[in-house]
Amino acid sequence: MIKKSKESFLHVQNPATGEYTEKIKIASKEDVENAVKKAREAQKSWAALSVKERSKYILKVRNYLLDHIDSIIETLHNETGKIQMEVLSHELLGPIDTMYQYAKKAPRLLSPQKFFLHLVPYKRSEIHYKPKGVVGIISPWNFPFTIPMGEIIMAVLAGNTVVLKPSEITPLSGLLIEKIFKRSGFPDAIVQTIVGDGKTGAALLDAPIDHIVFTGSVNTGKIIAVKAAEKMITATLELGGKDPMIVLPDADIQRTVRGALFGAFANSGQVCASVERVYVHSSIYEKFLDEVVFQTNQLRQGKDRVAGDFDIGPIISEKQIDTIKRHIADAKKKGARILTGGNLKKGTKGRFFEPTVIADANHSMECMMEETFGPTMPIMPYETIEEAILLANATAFGLTASVWSKDRKKAMKVASRIEAGTVIINDAIYTHAMAETPWGGVKNSGMGRVHSDMGLLEFTNPIHINKPAWINIDLWWYPYTMRSFNFFKNFIFLFSGNMVHRLKGLLGFASWNTITFGKKKDDEL
Ligand code: NAD
Repeated sequence: MIKKSKESFLHVQNPATGEYTEKIKIASKEDVENAVKKAREAQKSWAALSVKERSKYILKVRNYLLDHIDSIIETLHNETGKIQMEVLSHELLGPIDTMYQYAKKAPRLLSPQKFFLHLVPYKRSEIHYKPKGVVGIISPWNFPFTIPMGEIIMAVLAGNTVVLKPSEITPLSGLLIEKIFKRSGFPDAIVQTIVGDGKTGAALLDAPIDHIVFTGSVNTGKIIAVKAAEKMITATLELGGKDPMIVLPDADIQRTVRGALFGAFANSGQVCASVERVYVHSSIYEKFLDEVVFQTNQLRQGKDRVAGDFDIGPIISEKQIDTIKRHIADAKKKGARILTGGNLKKGTKGRFFEPTVIADANHSMECMMEETFGPTMPIMPYETIEEAILLANATAFGLTASVWSKDRKKAMKVASRIEAGTVIINDAIYTHAMAETPWGGVKNSGMGRVHSDMGLLEFTNPIHINKPAWINIDLWWYPYTMRSFNFFKNFIFLFSGNMVHRLKGLLGFASWNTITFGKKKDDEL
């Protein structure tokens, strides 16, 4: 949580204690421009290194993270109030493993890709993956470390330099990232952090950057997309979600409920890929509700002193609390039952909202159509699988979804019909931490992909180079004659048609004349 003071400082508040811990100066427009200028200068020598050399630097960062893991956990825990187990498994596992995986993979993935052209076997082509240049990264508060780190790793491996603008709510995590790269021995200005709010983000977009990676709300994402279009730079947009969980009639109820709890309440539900709405087959609906309430009531909520003390942490800001309360009130008004939770936890200075189970939800309710971003689990019964698929696809979002069943084939059939960037069977959320899997959404959830081979190549401009292999044959050049016209016609039939077309093309070549079949039809056209 932040409070802005007149002198342009951000005041960082620990949401688990309510304490204001640090005061950080907001970067001016000139600071942002200077950072981008420095990044542009540094990019030339960084890009001149081989990918293997850049990978060695990345492994130094990996080592630094592992050597300082406890103090890093402490900083992130104090700024966000996150449960320590979640700092480790949500914030650190992904970047550390991605560094290890992609330091190994990047030299191969970024080396020129050579290929043969079947129509002109006397020529050759290659794709060279050039860095985009200076990459701007604007990130949110809910995963202030893993989100920008995952993007920075791929950007710098590909030869770019980065200017990061972390959320105004979590500037310390952003500054920690810059410090980690510096202390690991990275050359100056390869990774820089500028601290500030939306205005600072806007200043970064106004500066001469070459690519923007934005993670945040749909509304801000649309502003970023328009600005990127005006500047004609590429943009990767990782936006909000309203992720459905479909529970098929044969699901293992006990395990599925454990999965639902993790999906809906991890990071207090402040996850873009949270289970935000649950559809349960009517035949198991009441049993499912009973088990959800039973398991939810076992969860422990609070600020952990040592790892393992608690399961659920605080909510980052008052604004988030307002949205959660509004969605619950609207659901109640429209006939939903609050089976457990529903209120701010009493007797603590921290901002803790009880994990809340909402039964008998339906699509007239805000909690089923708009992103809540809190520890709520609205549940709705359905009658047929067809209906469940329609309901799952009925929002403007498409980030992730999950399907739960003992029958993997049946689950796969349902999964393939869900409109989302990621669909997980019998699990939720976790693939964000997997280096090999792409992450990104469809519909209002955004465009482009981070992580995986696709995410690495997103930080490059693929440059195609074509060259003669042994002789020069200039088929396309002047003069245009009837002979060259006939040659091309035979050529198209021979190389791009079905068996009959190919035979006709071959006969045309044999007589060195045009093929006449189909001529009448062409004339008629
Ligand atoms: P937000 O849109 O309010 O802010 C995100 C970032 O954009 C912040 O750094 C903010 O300072 C900056 N910003 C705000 N206005 C700007 C402007 N006009 N120009 C440039 N920058 C600007 O989002 P938030 O509340 O920080 O994050 C929560 C949202 O992020 C949720 O909707 C969540 O679903 C989404 N999210 C998506 C993913 C994903 O992978 N798809 C991951 C995490 C969070």
